[in-house]
Amino acid sequence: MADDAVIKQVKEANDIVAVVGGYVALRPAGGTFKGLCPFHKDSRPSFDVDPRRQRFRCWSCGKYGDVISFVQEFDRVDFREALELLARRAGISLENESASPQARGRALMLDTVRWAAERYHRCLLEAPLGETARKYVGERGITGETVRRFGLGFAPPSGDWLIREAAPGKIDFDLLEKVGLIAKRQEGNGYYDRFRDRVMFPIRDRRGQPVGFGGRILPTSPLAERAPKYYNSAETALFRKSECLYGLDVARQPGTAAGYLAVVEGYTDVLMAHQLGIPQVVAPMGTALNERHVQQLRAFVPRVVLVFDADAGGETGADRALRIFASQNVDLAVATLPEGMDPCDLLVQRGPEPFLSALTHAVDALEFKLNQVLEREGAGGVEGRRRAVDAILNVLALTPAMPDQDGAIKRDLIISRIAQRLALQEENLRGRLRELSSQRRDDERPQRPRVEETAQPETKRVKPQPEELQLLRLLLADPSLIPDAAAEVTLDMLQHPRVRQVIGEMYALHSAGESCSVDQLRVRIDDAHLTEIVLKQHDIGRKITDRPVRMRELLAVFREKHHIEPRTREIKNQLHAAGDHDQAVELLRQLQNQRVGLEP
Ligand SMILES: [Zn+2]
Repeated sequence: MADDAVIKQVKEANDIVAVVGGYVALRPAGGTFKGLCPFHKDSRPSFDVDPRRQRFRCWSCGKYGDVISFVQEFDRVDFREALELLARRAGISLENESASPQARGRALMLDTVRWAAERYHRCLLEAPLGETARKYVGERGITGETVRRFGLGFAPPSGDWLIREAAPGKIDFDLLEKVGLIAKRQEGNGYYDRFRDRVMFPIRDRRGQPVGFGGRILPTSPLAERAPKYYNSAETALFRKSECLYGLDVARQPGTAAGYLAVVEGYTDVLMAHQLGIPQVVAPMGTALNERHVQQLRAFVPRVVLVFDADAGGETGADRALRIFASQNVDLAVATLPEGMDPCDLLVQRGPEPFLSALTHAVDALEFKLNQVLEREGAGGVEGRRRAVDAILNVLALTPAMPDQDGAIKRDLIISRIAQRLALQEENLRGRLRELSSQRRDDERPQRPRVEETAQPETKRVKPQPEELQLLRLLLADPSLIPDAAAEVTLDMLQHPRVRQVIGEMYALHSAGESCSVDQLRVRIDDAHLTEIVLKQHDIGRKITDRPVRMRELLAVFREKHHIEPRTREIKNQLHAAGDHDQAVELLRQLQNQRVGLEP
């Protein structure tokens, strides 16, 4: 277990504004920094980062914590992993025993991918073997600077190049297999390289750490006939293809400055845009843009511009864009390129201006869909307009609305814009949408309802009793009060499951003679939601003055509630049932003693 001193060192070396600022665009506001909350669909900057107290807080969804819990929540890792990430960020080396096996495994995989990226990169830059690849990259118009910036590499064709590089005991074959770079031969033993004769594009996470690779086969390769043109390294704990955005590590800062991020299709589109001075460009990994992508982009920018090739942006592309536009708190726009050109061709052939102009003239996804259907149906005829309306409302009927007030407002705006463009009554449109939605619901009834990713566990809704909360605050702020509390308040006296769990851990740490600091506690409980409660109540507790006095008062409340009240009730019941005078007098005397707090 990492001790308090190490955790403290890691926290001090990672200023919360700098760390959070790497994920979320922050602007100074008074003594704090404000940004869009990355944990809910935020429309106004509700997210506050306080450098003095080293805490973040969302005024809208209530998320709260310190730099470690931020990383835990954002990267969905456990406490130890978050600690490791922050330690690595600050150049602090943690003893290996301090890491969970999961975090150690992850760190080893990261090291392995980084090692391989470095080897491939060297090979492309300087190895004689890399000559053909260098020529190919040059012919595509990619400069040496871009090659270095994006860490491009080359995997030679031999089939055992990487294995030989790793062989002098440098890198564990098991790990190379685990990150998807080599595989076991089917017959006999030994391994082979999975990437052969390919230009290697390291895929980095948003912090710039390589987590996987995309490889493009050289067009001149003898393997090109039967092998796929592009090939990705395997899905691993590090590399989730459906969530990755190529180029996000280098695009996020320029994106924040530009106010938007553009989404293109391929690696070379990203490279070329960047090379020609349009760095706010990313690409998904061979999948269409999905909600998870949008949420990541939303952490940096309010606006996302989807770039369609004129021929590829057909019906499904437009519908998907409209669905994301209607269901997510994002300003999603669509940019169309001249017929038959992908961004890379356009940039190489005509320079940056036409591409940049397409980005700045992007129209929002609703406008794009409206233009598309009106072009097809024409706005004149009654029947054409009816089909146009249904084409759009059918997409909306399939789309879950955003749950909050923002969602209702966005729906309203969408409906009123459609009404305007098609010269129809809003009321009629709403009626038709309800009709289509209920048809959809009937169609889909057997399916299970979609579960919101952000749904909180049930227990959050049950509030703890005030005295339980107060006890938690006092103990967190002042662990020296634990013995007094433990002597009076047993765990079965605590009703709220989470409060009981935290206080139980504190009692346990104390009786084991260990430190009861908040950091030790969070290592032990290792639950993001519970950690949030602990941090929040700890901070409130530290503001309470006269804590020993408050504790004495609080313990009296517990005594009253758990010993005196039940006993009093019992005596009263007996009194009602008492048959003779003497017995009643005795019970009344006991009741009096109860009231003044004496034991009977
Ligand atoms: Zn929030």
